[in-house]
Amino acid sequence: MTNMKKMTMIPLLASFILGSTLWSGGFTANAATAATTSTTVSTVTPTTTPDKQTNHLPNIKILATGGTIAGSSSVNTDTTGYKAGALGVETLINAVPEMKSIANVSGEQVVNVGSPDVNNEILLKLAKRTNELLARDDVDGIVITHGTDTLEETAYFLNLVVKSDKPVVVVGSMRPATAISADGPFNLYNAVKVAGAPTSKGQGVLVLLNDRIGAARYITKTNTTAVDTFKSVEQGYLGAVVGDQVYYYNKSTHKHTTSSVFDISNLTQLPQVDILYEYQNNGRYLYDAAVAAGAKGIVVAGSGNGSLSKTSSEGAEAAGKKGVIIARSTRVGSGVVSPSTTDAASNFVSTDSLNPQKARILLMLALTQTHDVNQIQTFFNEY
Ligand code: ASP
Repeated sequence: MTNMKKMTMIPLLASFILGSTLWSGGFTANAATAATTSTTVSTVTPTTTPDKQTNHLPNIKILATGGTIAGSSSVNTDTTGYKAGALGVETLINAVPEMKSIANVSGEQVVNVGSPDVNNEILLKLAKRTNELLARDDVDGIVITHGTDTLEETAYFLNLVVKSDKPVVVVGSMRPATAISADGPFNLYNAVKVAGAPTSKGQGVLVLLNDRIGAARYITKTNTTAVDTFKSVEQGYLGAVVGDQVYYYNKSTHKHTTSSVFDISNLTQLPQVDILYEYQNNGRYLYDAAVAAGAKGIVVAGSGNGSLSKTSSEGAEAAGKKGVIIARSTRVGSGVVSPSTTDAASNFVSTDSLNPQKARILLMLALTQTHDVNQIQTFFNEY
């Protein structure tokens, strides 16, 4: 079959299987609406409705950043070789017209990248735009479409710097928009539903995939390709969307959003924090290299309960003497790294139950406020 024939078959198949226009419309509109890969915040592009609404529906802004949810392939069984961040926000919105009955939805393309390429500059742009929008009376909630690979990092960053109790829901998908049984359309619909629910206020930044509502603080990606990849292994989900209803069962016990002290409104960059992984036979040279490259903090994905080998301890302690904060996390995947009475003397902190990638986010923000190791430990205990 030629590529052209395949491309025309995919929308038909998707429509047939999914029963409506859904993502198939998105695919056909792909070429016309694909956004650029520029990291510039684009102008607001209202899609389905203008901002000022007189109906009773919540006004929800969708900020699009790319990822698999905006991914495209010419083969509808392709769930790995597709291009992430290929479709624009209008394509995503227009592909789920059902959202119009639950919210006044408008969209804005912030960036269009695969989430491995989300960097500090993008985090700051996204957070500032989120805060600007949430400060407006005509915005009731925000949905952020994002690649799943680093989704938890962005969600946790926002959880610490958003200055509003209005709902912010980060959503992704594991299958590209062009796949049979793409999970993006329903995830997006559910994310809008959750963002518009009064019970979502004050819950901190939320993550929505696979009908589950997770707290940014607790949720993590656990499987490379499976649709049910996002789990809160120890703490559990906050709730679920079932039969068009939003259910909450748990609350985050950690500080977030309006109770957070972190403020990025005047920041143009974040301190460099690197992550080093523990393994047998490791040496200290990676610590030396990180310090030489300008790291102000190092998160260690330690073995077990945040352990470091003798050789990496040497590197970490040498870094600590130069004022670098060493945050002991774990490579294990779940559990708390417990504090040690010897931590502070070496400029070490323990990261509670934060995995290394989230510990890096908190340490960057902590270093915007202080270099005091005890204060930074307090942040790790509270956030
Ligand atoms: N595989 C990724 C995703 O699920 C790609 C990305 O993170 O952008 O979205």
